[in-house]
Amino acid sequence: MEISNLGEFKLIEHLTKSIQITQPSTIKSVGDDAAVLQFTNKHQVLVTTDILLEGIHFDLTYTPLKHLGYKAVAVNISDICAMNGTATQILVTIGVSKRFTVEQIEELYSGIYTACNQFSVDLVGGDTSASLTGLTISITCIGIAEKHKIVYRNGAKPNQLICATGDFGAAYMGLQLLEREKRIFISQGNTKNNDFQPDFARKEYILERQLKPQPRTDIIKILEKHNIIPTAMMDVSDGLSSELMHICKESNVGCRVYEKNIPIDYVTATQAEEFNMNLTTAAINGGEDYELLFTVPLELHEQIKKLAEENIRIIGHTTTPEEGMYLITRDNKEIALKAQGWNAFIDNNTQ
Ligand code: ADP
Ligand code: MG
Repeated sequence: MEISNLGEFKLIEHLTKSIQITQPSTIKSVGDDAAVLQFTNKHQVLVTTDILLEGIHFDLTYTPLKHLGYKAVAVNISDICAMNGTATQILVTIGVSKRFTVEQIEELYSGIYTACNQFSVDLVGGDTSASLTGLTISITCIGIAEKHKIVYRNGAKPNQLICATGDFGAAYMGLQLLEREKRIFISQGNTKNNDFQPDFARKEYILERQLKPQPRTDIIKILEKHNIIPTAMMDVSDGLSSELMHICKESNVGCRVYEKNIPIDYVTATQAEEFNMNLTTAAINGGEDYELLFTVPLELHEQIKKLAEENIRIIGHTTTPEEGMYLITRDNKEIALKAQGWNAFIDNNTQ
């Protein structure tokens, strides 16, 4: 169905009619001029927003709309996790060109609602507009945290442990794989009815990591359970190397991170080999991992080591700022960290 058949108001109503509220802080959701939220004195409110533009941040040739909706929510929740908080509400703003049908926007929203349900986040509003070309989706996420538990980027001190969750480079290798299959698809005629079948066998893990990232709400709960409050924390969207440099600069410390300690999945490694890429480079510069990177006092060494089974690993330590920011390779060479993270302004092929 063409969107013009429904009109803006009917479309909004259609997309939001089955919203079910889960958060006690949501007083009024979609349907008035503004949402009404009420938080207790115990908490401070966290707010974050992200914009995704077609052709810059996503490519609908290989990104299913449902996954796009899910990912747009997930990356915002990840930012709330990075503050050691809990996401509670989102607002969703979309700009849609005539090229899209009502059914396609429903697909997008089904992904948005899947993520809302999974992470107990209420959709409480947004805005809807026509656009000249392409799809734009912008999500604002609201979250809460107890004041003394909020973790900033600037709290690390020299000689603390640097920890990372999960593994790195998988989302980037997933993207490389999708881009390769797209090139083959185009070179074979790029028609809807050609019988091109992308070769994704045994590559599910890296594709999931690219298309359906998981914000580490589980890690926030584990830290809480073990009474651990990191001294500094970030989520890894632009690449491990770039985020490490952010923490170091904001906290005025240096770092030593060990190549041998950087967690990498087997599928990521085989894909890097297939593409003849340096695996460590892919892992530290790839980006979109949405893992958490944080620092804790040295005294927590034994306690953190026990959390290896919870996917938390020590990858290095902080130093004084004069000692610089270095990766120590397997053969003990020191390589200065560079921020080669993704930057839409420098290279939008990889974005
Ligand atoms: P206004 O004219 O005040 O901007 P709208 O007609 O845009 O109001 O929105 C009506 C209600 O629908 C508001 O509660 C708004 O937050 C919500 N809304 C609008 N667009 C969306 C959307 N794309 N997704 C979710 N809620 C939306
Ligand atoms: Mg509006």
